Amino acid sequence: MMETSLICPECGAAWDADMTCETTFHQMLYWEHENQANWVVHHLMVLCYYMQHPSLYSQEGVEVGKGLLTAFVKEGRSPAEMREANRDSVNSKNREWKITARPDNKGAYTNPVTWSMHAADVVRRGEAQYVESVREWAKSAYADLLATGNI
Ligand SMILES: [Zn+2]
Repeated sequence: MMETSLICPECGAAWDADMTCETTFHQMLYWEHENQANWVVHHLMVLCYYMQHPSLYSQEGVEVGKGLLTAFVKEGRSPAEMREANRDSVNSKNREWKITARPDNKGAYTNPVTWSMHAADVVRRGEAQYVESVREWAKSAYADLLATGNI
């Protein structure tokens, strides 16, 4: 049978027959639920996945995501610190905007981004490397956004 190679329209990753971005996302969630030690990078994994598929976010969500990625990768802040720091803005009058995409509001980047690492790379390296791989993925995503002038 001929191999068909499909490319993710959002992050540019090459899909195999049995590995799309969505299946890699579920694989990573599975590893996190199966092994508590993997849960430590859950916030980075979800953030990277969404940042590389920005139409899952609203435009406001993409902006929030950039701030979180900067805080986690560049400033080394923890999810708990960020929840504390964002509590006021989340509870304030800004509440009318939503982070997830709506039909009339899907996130995108000002400048096109070529990602150096994708969800599939994390999965291909295997569960034993999971925590290390996700941290590297987050660093590379931040660097890619910086290099393209999106942050
Ligand atoms: Zn993708």
